Amino acid sequence: YTPPRMSFNYGGGSRGGRVPVGLGRKRLRIVVTGGAGFVGSHLVDKLLGRGDEVIVIDNFFTGRKENLVHHFSNPRFELIRHDVVEPILLEVDQIYHLACPASPVHYKYNPVKTIKTNVMGTLNMLGLAKRVGARFLLTSTSEVYGDPLEHPQKETYWGNVNPIGERSCYDEGKRTAETLAMDYHRGAGVEVRIARIFNTYGPRMCLDDGRVVSNFVAQTIRKHPMTVYGDGKQTRSFQYVSDLVEGLVALMENDHVGPFNLGNPGEFTMLELAEVVKEVIDPSATIEFKPNTADDPHKRKPDISKAKELLNWEPKISLRDGLPRMVSDFRNRILNEDEGKGL
Ligand code: NAD
Ligand code: UDP
Ligand code: UDP
Repeated sequence: YTPPRMSFNYGGGSRGGRVPVGLGRKRLRIVVTGGAGFVGSHLVDKLLGRGDEVIVIDNFFTGRKENLVHHFSNPRFELIRHDVVEPILLEVDQIYHLACPASPVHYKYNPVKTIKTNVMGTLNMLGLAKRVGARFLLTSTSEVYGDPLEHPQKETYWGNVNPIGERSCYDEGKRTAETLAMDYHRGAGVEVRIARIFNTYGPRMCLDDGRVVSNFVAQTIRKHPMTVYGDGKQTRSFQYVSDLVEGLVALMENDHVGPFNLGNPGEFTMLELAEVVKEVIDPSATIEFKPNTADDPHKRKPDISKAKELLNWEPKISLRDGLPRMVSDFRNRILNEDEGKGL
């Protein structure tokens, strides 16, 4: 499919016609793909809050209108139900490309669709960026490091990824997305930015998306035991969502292509995470052990010196401070769910 090379005159796009926002900066028109999801909706809050126009593209696979409903009456906000696997024509200045299921349960549900989203979706958004001269930011993942043999992981590490495993649709999909971004950058001069995001948590995560923080928090609120997979000695580093949003915006606004690790270097075993959840949410919480999933990385921790030095960014919110901030959102949604069931 080759989109017609027509020139729209919506007043957006890199060709100008934008409205001034306060002093010294033009209002930007920004696309956020996957903007109805967990991270995307927090990013949209930030971009609208600073005065820009935002167009969200989302197919609602894992995203929800509820995450954005507070913007529906804002004339600077637009929500388009669209699948990024299909081409789309828009005139914009920046593209934050987040569309892709992020939880292992969701991305393994239809692996072919996941890889199509990563490859064809990213190709379409890069094609769009090239056509309108927009800056393009890819949300890649720490999963590109696979089960890492280097610890902590620096951006220079090439990773240890199984190309034929159950997680490959996501890991290898994101690796291909990074390749596409670099090829559009080198070959077509597209201004790209690549973020490698480490495990992130916060309000608006899907209640049952299978990720460890949302599982443990929801299980504890429901008075169910926390399910620890394997021996619970595997590690992850957990970043609060507002720190990630700050990092994504800093990366977009800076001059460096990346890739940049965006994560919180605080490293926890799953057993330690369960202890923290117990401490901050409910001291009577219990755990139960379940078999682990295939190809589960044994450890993961970002080296963020590059982002610190070049983006002047580092996370501010520790796990103990961040966890309580998602509890009221989870409690309210669990309560609504129970009321819906007539409980
Ligand atoms: P999420 O599942 O909450 O959000 C993804 C959004 O993309 C959803 O709104 C979903 O409906 C939408 N989407 C999925 N496929 C689509 C398609 N084909 N067309 C249009 N929309 C589509 O996940 P999230 O945690 O907000 O993650 C956002 C991005 O950040 C993802 O690209 C993910 O890979 C990346 N990331 C997240 C984490 C994390 O811990 N949250 C870690 C690493 C990378
Ligand atoms: N594309 C799109 N919107 C645009 C421009 C391109 O969705 O505004 C899609 C286009 O359909 C193609 C992909 O992006 O599938 C790559 O576009 P590009 O122009 O780089 O490649 P070509 O169309 O020449 O293969
Ligand atoms: N995990 C767990 N209990 C759960 C969900 C996940 O112990 O209920 C473990 C999982 O095996 C993995 C870690 O938590 O070692 C992080 O899993 P998650 O799905 O959150 O993210 P990812 O594997 O993508 O880092």
